[in-house]
Amino acid sequence: TYTLGPKINNWDISRKSWFTQNPNFPNYVNGKARILLVTGSPPSPCDNPIGDHYLLKSIKNKIDYCRIHGIEIVYNLAHLDTELSGYWSKLPLIRRLMLSHLEVEWIWWMDSDALFTDMFFEIPIPKYADYNLVIHGYPDLLFNHKSWIALNTGSFLLRNCQWSLDLLDAWAPMGPKGPVRDEAGKILTHNLKGRPEFEADDQSALIYLFISKKDEWMDKVFLENSYYLHGYWAGLVDKYEEMIAKHHPGLGDERWPFVTHFVGCKPCGSYGDYPVERCLRSMERAFNFADNQVLKLYGFSHRGLLSPKLKRIRNETTTPLNFVDRFDI
Ligand code: UDP
Ligand code: MN
Repeated sequence: TYTLGPKINNWDISRKSWFTQNPNFPNYVNGKARILLVTGSPPSPCDNPIGDHYLLKSIKNKIDYCRIHGIEIVYNLAHLDTELSGYWSKLPLIRRLMLSHLEVEWIWWMDSDALFTDMFFEIPIPKYADYNLVIHGYPDLLFNHKSWIALNTGSFLLRNCQWSLDLLDAWAPMGPKGPVRDEAGKILTHNLKGRPEFEADDQSALIYLFISKKDEWMDKVFLENSYYLHGYWAGLVDKYEEMIAKHHPGLGDERWPFVTHFVGCKPCGSYGDYPVERCLRSMERAFNFADNQVLKLYGFSHRGLLSPKLKRIRNETTTPLNFVDRFDI
């Protein structure tokens, strides 16, 4: 059967000795865990050219968030393993980055169709000291309902450790494109509530693994739902004005969602579950909602959530030094 690569068994010990030999590359800097945000998109242009423009907006949004919070970023355009194409491509990529970047403590995968919409919120990393996977999800939907949307693989954090390599190995076998992925899709649809008939996807495969081997995996999995590590766009994008009126960034939950994820939109591809116009309009609103939080640092704001045009929100001054600290995140 399919494997991601040669089985690695001693990663925690190897990594530990690497740290003693490379003291200039610590996994914690000033008490903060080193995080690498990883995202990407298909190797070819989008079917719909406007999709490429939204991929650009999406990476700009992530660069902004990561710069502000001292997180490094990788953008991948390749399929490292031709068998694991499409949504499965994150698995070999994450594994490769773990093995090449020993200094990174957490790999944070984020889909191209997910945007940061709270530029101030930070992941409460110390909360996850005893966990290796942090993913948005609901235990009741997972174990009682076996729902195919019990968790979402569009935004999750995976610790660089042996457990995570083992998880990737256990997660991958349904991935190979062709008969394997097609047959596995039938098993997943049969076992998961609400799942349409289609080839095996990484999200359903992870849910199925956790349901069928709960005791083996779940003690190191943190199902996070106290803030939107992933937030479903349809319930959020029409409420941004209300959020602006009532709340402030930094909350990360339904009051000011950390991440808005355009599940089912596919502006880069041909088939989505929603009308393209609605998706693009909503993505534009999410992008500008987030961009306003960045532009505010420099004294500007979009004229509206659908407008690329800016307005000034502060007067220019001859003494910028008197104000520079006031607008910092
Ligand atoms: N992805 C990638 N290469 C591909 C296809 C997908 O890097 O060839 C990434 C991309 O970031 C995408 C994520 O995998 O957002 C999930 O794939 P999916 O097909 O579910 O796309 P989505 O619906 O999230 O746009
Ligand atoms: Mn997605």
